[in-house]
Amino acid sequence: MKFIWTIALSFFTVLPGSYAGESIQVVTLLGYPGSGKGTLAQSLDPDRYIAFSFGDFLRGEVDKQTKLGNTYKDEVEMKGVQKITLLPEDLVREIFTTKIKEFIQTKKHIVLDGYPKTIEQAIFLDTLMAHEGVQLIPIYVKVDKTILLDRILNRLVCPKCSKVYNLKYNPPNQRNICDNCSEKLRVRGTDSEDNLEIRIRFFDEILEPLLSFYQRGDRLVEFDGSLPITETCSKFQQYLDNIEGSDDLL
Ligand SMILES: [Zn+2]
Repeated sequence: MKFIWTIALSFFTVLPGSYAGESIQVVTLLGYPGSGKGTLAQSLDPDRYIAFSFGDFLRGEVDKQTKLGNTYKDEVEMKGVQKITLLPEDLVREIFTTKIKEFIQTKKHIVLDGYPKTIEQAIFLDTLMAHEGVQLIPIYVKVDKTILLDRILNRLVCPKCSKVYNLKYNPPNQRNICDNCSEKLRVRGTDSEDNLEIRIRFFDEILEPLLSFYQRGDRLVEFDGSLPITETCSKFQQYLDNIEGSDDLL
């Protein structure tokens, strides 16, 4: 029996990464608003990682007034809440398939933020990854709820390049001005205190089923995101490097 398991395991370790000697990791970050997912993704070395936030991508499409952007804007305006689930699932899949294939071509690791949001999307993502021969690592960025609230209420976002700041933990060099592109920073419309309880409840409904889905498959990894942001970012890079290293050791 043990022998069979060894064979099965070695078979699986050969699968991830279709490029000889180089296995591409696809990480999906799961966590509440304020857990720092966006900041973590953006802090990684862009020569090695592509950070893809579905929300930012959609906001970009809206700004560029593409066909997709307009469809999304109409839906959001009609229903009032900003959710990826407002888009037809076929369309979301199509976008994802195209993007992932494009990213894999670059041979960089991929960090997803804001996808999947449903079990159906998680299953789809698994199928897509298996088809592309890459490994998906779901990482739960765990942060205490009191810290979450504190972070969200002090958050500022650049409307142009999407960089996220925090007045307490990660302030811009110049008050209210983006370090990257000198754009005036703003509070995200969804970050007000009134909205927060609703959003956290909304996220409970989204997150919990996803966390159990990945836990059931015994592949959820937890990352402590409650340290100050610079510390968290460097730990995150080390953490990913370790996962990458352990890949060859299996
Ligand atoms: Zn900016």
